[in-house]
Amino acid sequence: MTFYSPEFDRYIHINRKNKIRRLSLKVCRVTGKISINASLYLSNLDIFNFFNKNRSWISKQLSKCAVPKIVDKGLMLPVEGNYYEIVSNNHVSTIRFLESNKICLPKNIINVGHAVQKFLIVYCKSIMTPFIIEKSNLFKKKIQKISFKDTKSRWGSCSSKGSIMLNWRLIMAPPSVYKYVIIHELSHLVHMNHGYLFWKLVGELHPSYMSDREWLNKNGHEIRKYIF
Ligand SMILES: [Zn+2]
Repeated sequence: MTFYSPEFDRYIHINRKNKIRRLSLKVCRVTGKISINASLYLSNLDIFNFFNKNRSWISKQLSKCAVPKIVDKGLMLPVEGNYYEIVSNNHVSTIRFLESNKICLPKNIINVGHAVQKFLIVYCKSIMTPFIIEKSNLFKKKIQKISFKDTKSRWGSCSSKGSIMLNWRLIMAPPSVYKYVIIHELSHLVHMNHGYLFWKLVGELHPSYMSDREWLNKNGHEIRKYIF
């Protein structure tokens, strides 16, 4: 069920489930989607009153919401924390970095976003894979698998078997930030929790981890807003 809110100029999504006991409200930080979880037995009026009571909270959340940016020619895209303008010309046969902070595509490319995404993932792998392998030598466990995905909620993960997953969008963040995420995930090879010893190890291997974590908390949604 959905209803339209003229105030927020969007639909409010109501998810009704048997198991839900309490009403809850969510505003997606990336898309601005507003959803309410409610029990099957609650009346529409109760849900609407709940929505009404939380209007100022919703508008506060929406103001923090990132406006999506479509990746196309002319856009300034961050790579390793520096902004590059996306351009095209006849002189290049494949997409590449140009001097003066440009990413240049051949003129004939139709789907710019797709080409830039592919380019960024290849670049991300070429930078991060050697760093992961180099740092993993500090640990006794071997890395079995490294994968790069575009996960919505996490920046990385690590399994006890030694599979590392990273969000390739991290290549848009400053190097110190993605290095922190890699060290964080590798440290899970030793401590499969976020306890005192875990953070002590992260701090030893990556002393700036506190400010890098803060960068991700504050700016992480910015690098998720690009639509390729
Ligand atoms: Zn963790």
